[in-house]
Parts: sequence; structure tokens; C-alpha cells
Amino acid sequence: MQGNGAGKTRPRRLLLCLDGVPHKVIEQEKGRGLFDSFGPPTRLLSPFPTMTNVALSAMLGASPPEGYESLYFDRKAGELRGGIRKYLGRRTPDKIPSSYMDDLDYQEPLAFEFLIYVAPDRIWRADMQRFRERFRAAPQTHDYFAFLKATDGLLHAQGPERLAIALESLDKILREIQSSCGKETEIVMFSDHGMNLEENRRVPLTEALQRRGFQVVIPAFGLCSYAALYCRDTDVIPEVARASAEITGVDFAIYKDSGDVVIESEHGQARIEQRLDGDAASYRYVVVSGDPLRLKDFHDRFATDHDWFEQTAGHRYPDALPNIYKSLFTSRVKHTADILVSLKDGYYYGWSPFGRIVRLAATHGNALQSSSNAFLMSTHRELPAFVRADDAKALLRN
Ligand SMILES: [Zn+2]
Repeated sequence: MQGNGAGKTRPRRLLLCLDGVPHKVIEQEKGRGLFDSFGPPTRLLSPFPTMTNVALSAMLGASPPEGYESLYFDRKAGELRGGIRKYLGRRTPDKIPSSYMDDLDYQEPLAFEFLIYVAPDRIWRADMQRFRERFRAAPQTHDYFAFLKATDGLLHAQGPERLAIALESLDKILREIQSSCGKETEIVMFSDHGMNLEENRRVPLTEALQRRGFQVVIPAFGLCSYAALYCRDTDVIPEVARASAEITGVDFAIYKDSGDVVIESEHGQARIEQRLDGDAASYRYVVVSGDPLRLKDFHDRFATDHDWFEQTAGHRYPDALPNIYKSLFTSRVKHTADILVSLKDGYYYGWSPFGRIVRLAATHGNALQSSSNAFLMSTHRELPAFVRADDAKALLRN
């Protein structure tokens, strides 16, 4: 990776992304003495749905991926695209979901992405060794960007105790790197999204909606706490969203209604309105019934994007209004869903045969804190307490 001022106007950087490691976990690990040369970890707010390619393309200002995962629905073609085939063979251009991948100096070999679920410890060790060797051989005049993906699979399949062992090894490697590179190298460690650390149950979303006569396509791939719905008949979108919100395990469902976002949940219905004043956006939370996002105590008038961030970054749904609004109105992915469903912690949607192979000890994807709070910390710089994914690039790359 070509760093702007790397080694000249500022220290060269090692950017190390640990897939899926929650802010809470890093805080605990620091509490027991690991990573003690880093400053306090910032809450880096992962955009909804809290999935790797959505998050990293936002954090690095890169091109949006085709879909939320490698299996996605292409509306023009009217069919599902991508899927498991991307795991076979070489990482050819069609298997690169977003341009952020072009910036990676190190990422695991392609087959590891799947094997991590089968042999997590072996894969994790091989991945870390390889990273250590590649970094050692890299020129000191450039930033170095490494993505360790095995942490995500390790958490999904084995839970936090196993991850803690892996992080001890990583801590040793980073200490070695620091003692050989000295102060001239800043280490910036971050994650793309968090996780809820509890056993998860499957939500039979497709079955429940089909039973009610709705024709919906819901790509089922990883086992995650969100779902992307595409309706064959767009007139039924509001009805499908309402029906989804009644299914056990669903927290809320959202869809676009002209310039607004409508939220349906068992706690009522609300809308998010946006107003643009030049480039500056304001948002308003309009309750129709109940209080689905638990924001009644905040503004009932328009407030700026900045005000919402300042006041709700630590909320149950971090930065709820701008985040949820942007999930449908910005190009987080190329094939935006008609309805996005956020599940409660403890529930997942996904490919059922895969669900029978792995016990799901943790997952992510929803708009709650555990999945939204990724982390960001540096050996050299003090960082603000909360950082939005869309604002991370300035801290990572400048
Ligand atoms: Zn991830």
C-alpha cells in the first residue's frame, strides 16, 4: 500500500484489521495486559448491515461490493448471483468484492475463508505465521495493510475463549514487531464489525413469508443477524416488511417510502425523514406508533447529522438515524435490498445446511451495539471516543 507521508511526514503504519473482533473483547484483553502499548480503543461504528465488505468499503472509501455477502440478488437479471463458487481456485477479479482489496498487502489464502470453520486453530496459526513473514520482508518505506480474517470464523464457531488464546499469540507477534521496528512504525489495529457473543437460533424467514403467500428472494449464505429481502412485486414491500416484523427473532424491518425510511417492529412504526441543506443533512424521527428505535426521548424535530451522532453514538442502536437511513439511501452495496431486516441478538438467518455443520457461538449483521461496535486503536495517536465507518479513512490512510 502506498502511504501518503509514510516514513517522511509521519511514521510508517502497519494497519492490521482483525475481522469481527468486538470493541468489548479488545477492551477486556487490554484489561488483562494484552496490547498495552496501544492507546484506549475507540468504538468504530460499523454501518448496518454489519458485514465485512459493507464495512470495509465504507471505512476505506472504496467501491461498494455487489451485495451484502458473496451470494446476492441481481434485480435486472432476476436471479441470485455469486455464492460458494468464489471459494474455489484463484482469487480472480470477479472474486474481488470491493476495491479495498486492491490495497491489501496481506490477506489469507482464499481457501482459508471456508476452512476456518473446519479447522480453526490450524488455520489461524498458519494465517498469523504467514502475515509475520510477509511483513518482515516488506520495505520499511511504505505503509503495510494486513487483514486477518480468521478471527471472524474463530468467534463464529468457537466463541470468545478460543479467540482470547489467538489474541495472546498476536500480542507476542506485535511486541516482536515493535521491538524490531521501533517508534518509526505506528501500529493501527481495528476491526470491521463486532459480534454478539451468545448461541444463536435460526429464524425461518423465507418459510414464514412464503406460508403467507409472499414471493420474496432472501439470499441465504453466512449465518448472520440481518437479512436482505428482494420482492418480485414491489407493491407488496410495505406488507412484507410488516409481516417480517411479526416473526419471532426479528427486531425491525426497514424499507424506502419516497424519500423516507419506514421502520416496522413489534414496538411500533416510525419514519426517518431527511432534509438536505446544501451538503449538510438533518434527520427527524417521526413516530407513527410506539417507539421502534427507542429514540422518543431525543429530538422530535429535525436535528443535524452531527447532533444525532454526538447524542446517539453510544445508543442501543449506535448513530441510529443517519446509519439506518444511509443503509437504504447510499450505495453501501450495488444491489440494495428492498427490505433490510435486523434480527435480535441470539438469532440468525442463513444457509441451513451450513447451520447444521457449525454450532453458531457468535454472529453479527444487525444494528445493535454488539455488532455495530468495532474497535480502532493506535500505538501513536489519541483517537476520538467514537468514529463512524465513513470517517475512518482519514484516520487510517492520511
Ligand atoms: Zn467481518
